[in-house]
Amino acid sequence: MPRTSAPRRTKIVATVGPASDSPEQLRALIDAGVDVFRLSMAHDSIQTVLDRMALIREVGAASGREPAVLIDLPGPKVRAGTFGDEGVTLAAGAVVELRPGTDPSTADLVHVSHDALADDVQPGDVLHLGDGSASLRVDEIGERSVRATVINGGTMRGRPGVHIPSDRLSISTPTDFDREALAAVVEAGADMVAISFVRTAADIRSLGVPPPPVGPVVVAKIETQSAVDNLDEILEVSDAIMVARGDLGLECSLAQLPALQKRIIAATVRIGRPVITATQMLESMIDHQQPTRAEVSDVANAVFDGTSAVMLSGETAIGTDPVNVVRVMDDILRNADDTFDFESWARSVEEMGQMAATDDNRRIANAVSAAASRAITALAPPAVVCITGSGATARATTRYRPRAAVLAVTDSERSFRQLNLVWGATPILAQSHGEDAGRARRMLAELRDRGYLDVGQIVPVVAGSSNEAVASNVLRVEIVEPAG
Ligand code: PEP
Repeated sequence: MPRTSAPRRTKIVATVGPASDSPEQLRALIDAGVDVFRLSMAHDSIQTVLDRMALIREVGAASGREPAVLIDLPGPKVRAGTFGDEGVTLAAGAVVELRPGTDPSTADLVHVSHDALADDVQPGDVLHLGDGSASLRVDEIGERSVRATVINGGTMRGRPGVHIPSDRLSISTPTDFDREALAAVVEAGADMVAISFVRTAADIRSLGVPPPPVGPVVVAKIETQSAVDNLDEILEVSDAIMVARGDLGLECSLAQLPALQKRIIAATVRIGRPVITATQMLESMIDHQQPTRAEVSDVANAVFDGTSAVMLSGETAIGTDPVNVVRVMDDILRNADDTFDFESWARSVEEMGQMAATDDNRRIANAVSAAASRAITALAPPAVVCITGSGATARATTRYRPRAAVLAVTDSERSFRQLNLVWGATPILAQSHGEDAGRARRMLAELRDRGYLDVGQIVPVVAGSSNEAVASNVLRVEIVEPAG
């Protein structure tokens, strides 16, 4: 059914955890506006994730809006042995031993889930625990263990991540566990998978999954310096990108993050791929009802940077009021969407898009989506219709960030869910109405009958000329006719 309020353009990805995994909470989160649920494998077993995925499918189908499921594979995530729920303080200036193992950690001895620790670090390296809640400088390397001084102190709870500079780490992505988990979640029909600690395009190529919609949308998490250095080649082989600001903020200086975020988003949108901006977007709402002014500005600025989606992590996984967080996020995004500078964005993408075209199919899709963008500017239609099998037509069209509503119509159930990550797209499931010249008019008639369009509206339609067309190569502009 068409939504009663105007659709929000920037999408919301929400991480599911103990605070949000009941059927009631999931339903309330869908109603509050979640487009994609993220299940992180860093903390949960394969079976827990498969059970949650099945539950989300069930609750999503009952809600009439089917959010996508994104499975986040952990990659070579190194963790400390538990500090317990009460927590242990690592005081600035204290000397600490780090040793491979999974036993509990104390203030003097931190166990680390990485056998080659002593081989992989060097004196002078800085190791961050818990996304930077404490930082340790390596002083001395022993046979298997490492001695370090706490340079920024903090209280550690549970099993915090231990960040070892990614260019030193001898384990690469995907790990054996990633491959095992990937096979299981692909078999179970995951819509999207995120790959952690990607360094090169080869890491993504080695996954060997079929492209969407048959396979999952592969999201490369940009969180290492190598991934930033190899961004263009990673973009070529990934279906979407995540600016994973948690780990990325440890690999580069925090002060460089805003400029890096802008650069990664612009490069990703330019070639028509969705991009998610992640981590600490509304962090204070883990235990507060209201965000800080700085958080509201950060979310809005990600929209102005051109992000397709924003992600909530602890806010919805372990926070005190996940539904309130999503409502607040929805409100900030709608306000930012409304003040987005659509026209200058379209102009700049047109310039960048033409430069970026490297193969014939992409040049055709670029030209047709650029023509659609110009038609939208000239006609100011209420909507543009994208008839899309794999979602590619909708992605190409929306990189221009049209002011018009984007009705992304597909006959594939997988694309229908995968379109939840595409900026501005309202996914609609419908038959493709054949391949002849009348297809666009028949599609508009169906959308009129289903309440998405009104008689007399001028509507551009972007499509492939057939269901097998590899690029969007048709633009028609039609007037919605009365029924009968
Ligand atoms: C990040 O580092 O910002 C991120 C999203 O990754 P993780 O899965 O470690 O939270």
